[in-house]
Amino acid sequence: MLLTILGGCGAWPAAGQACSGYLVEHDGFRLLVDLGHATVPRLLERVGADQIDAVFISHGHPDHCADLNPLLRARTMRDDPPAALPVYSLPGALDAVLALDRPGVLTDAYVLHEFTAGSGFDIGPFRMQTRLLPHSIPNAGIRLTAGERVLAYTGDSGPSPDRVELARGADLLLAEATHVERVPEVSRRYLTSARQAGRQAREADAGHLVLTHLQPGTDASAARAAAGAGYDGEIGIATSGLSFDLS
Ligand SMILES: [Zn+2]
Repeated sequence: MLLTILGGCGAWPAAGQACSGYLVEHDGFRLLVDLGHATVPRLLERVGADQIDAVFISHGHPDHCADLNPLLRARTMRDDPPAALPVYSLPGALDAVLALDRPGVLTDAYVLHEFTAGSGFDIGPFRMQTRLLPHSIPNAGIRLTAGERVLAYTGDSGPSPDRVELARGADLLLAEATHVERVPEVSRRYLTSARQAGRQAREADAGHLVLTHLQPGTDASAARAAAGAGYDGEIGIATSGLSFDLS
């Protein structure tokens, strides 16, 4: 399984970067996990829009799904559009982004599969196990398994035992860490710090921790140090263009 970071900014894209977006490949199948602001230009540096096989969106905040619109446009506004793209989301999560174009423009470009948080299903070679994790809107964390490798991704969420359960024994935990040390009181139930993410990675016995969704302007080395206070393994920072080979 190969994970390529398209972007890892929380909330808005920093200069030259993109919001949450991850290309996960296995056995020639290309799955996009989240498609936040500015991820499509990063994607198109690597593969054509028509070479994507499926999309999974953790939740409906635009820093996780806004670029579904340009991806669908790039697939359908051409002379030889590919087959409709399977798109997986929680019920209603994509209503706003799918309404950006007038009715009918993108209708043939996708097939929407809305799933219930907590369910498991297959996307191509990937076994997907989902959990509802606490966020300001419904957010599905996922555990992807393919070829005996496991990638866990939190989407955005506050502290929850399910965050650890999703990542139990995972080869790589891709963990939202919007703040470094402390999450402000107003969002403490909905977001996580790098320090908390490090402790969770240790508790889950994850093989590798990658921090993502850092608020633009965050000192990445401080985030890495905060996570390292609780976790002895390798710690990366999700940045456009980085790849992690889980094989
Ligand atoms: Zn969010």
